[in-house]
Amino acid sequence: MTDDVRLDAPTNDTMNPETPHSTAADFIAEEGRFSAPNYHPLPVVVAHAEGAWVTDVDGKRYLDLLSAYSALNFGHRHPSLIAAMHNQLDHVTLTSRAVHNDLFGSFARELADVCGMDMVLPMNTGAEAVETAIKTSRKWGYDVKGVTPESARIIVCDGNFHGRTTTIVSFSDDETARGGFAPFTPGFDSVPYGDAAALEAAITPDTVGFLFEPVQGEGGIIVPPPSYLREVREICTRHNILMMADEIQTGFGRTGETFACDHENVKPDMYILGKALGGGIMPLSAVVADSTILGVMTPGTHGSTFGGNPLACAVGLAVLRLVRTGEFQRRSKELGEHLAARLRAESPAHVREIRSIGLWAGIEIDPAAGTARSYCDRLLERGIIVKDTHSTTMRVAPPLSISREDLDHAINEIIAVLNEGPVA
Ligand SMILES: *Cc1c(COP(=O)(O)O)cnc(C)c1O
Repeated sequence: MTDDVRLDAPTNDTMNPETPHSTAADFIAEEGRFSAPNYHPLPVVVAHAEGAWVTDVDGKRYLDLLSAYSALNFGHRHPSLIAAMHNQLDHVTLTSRAVHNDLFGSFARELADVCGMDMVLPMNTGAEAVETAIKTSRKWGYDVKGVTPESARIIVCDGNFHGRTTTIVSFSDDETARGGFAPFTPGFDSVPYGDAAALEAAITPDTVGFLFEPVQGEGGIIVPPPSYLREVREICTRHNILMMADEIQTGFGRTGETFACDHENVKPDMYILGKALGGGIMPLSAVVADSTILGVMTPGTHGSTFGGNPLACAVGLAVLRLVRTGEFQRRSKELGEHLAARLRAESPAHVREIRSIGLWAGIEIDPAAGTARSYCDRLLERGIIVKDTHSTTMRVAPPLSISREDLDHAINEIIAVLNEGPVA
């Protein structure tokens, strides 16, 4: 255990003096009245968090098995990340890239080094990094590969999730995500996930890249068949198209390796990163690639007011120090094996399939036994935050800092609720 790495230590100072004293129902009603209804949150109002635990406005504690979709891989408010943030607040928070700042260069160097690539293009949200990858691959296609102007095509996968912009939902096959948002951006071809032959068959002279998730997260923790990543690498190289790995959710330890591509010792042409890169503190995303690829960008071709801001870079540098310890990757692997072994051994009722990699599991529930959401609602009552994805999958993704005892407690509750079955 290094000094940087800390397990959970719950605390008592849960009162936030900035928050008016109201009941949970008041907060939920206010949000419902004044915010657009684009989410369906679990009915818990969090006021405080530390490590793997959150505390609601009534002082009730919950174990967080969602980790803000893996943005909180290092747990809530990791002390070294919080310290980096506090320190930077006393220096400079935002410069824009109209001038230089004294942290962006070292953040870019460290991130490029962790990825084993030449350079970094920083953005803020995951969707912006995906957009950056799309723009970069198209420009690379025209400038380097010699694709006919305005005809570049990108291959994506069925069941993908890459974010919410109009271009990104254009190549989603999730009707909830895209319905009502047409007209869509052209230039994308979709193939079945995990099928390397289908990828190869879809390549044309205009294809510039293959954009995919090495494990589909929102899709339900869909782990591709063995050797898929190696085959994709080989096909992309042979056809001179860019292998663009969206590791926004898989990156930084979630799957038991730094990157999911490491499971097959594969290096993509681009890493698309976000979520945990900002330590659950700042929105921070990036595309990382070699200079032959990112070098196609020239001044004015792309940018972001907040991209590379010193506050986010300070947190990002502290995140990369945690990543370099290897501790979180090791914990993810060990605790993940434990989670999967217990779920399989105790084979709870009403489960059709359990998919897992690292500290990340998708529990596929028999639709006849109720929706995944109905089980998540009951787990919430038992003090466990678990979120469904689609209607049938319960997704388990605790902070990688969770203790084995806390994880076992969560597993006990999950198994109990599943064995209880549908409740009338
Ligand atoms: C969350 C996610 C995104 C989008 O990230 P935002 O920060 O929500 O824009 C893109 N790709 C994958 C794989 C994700 O999990």
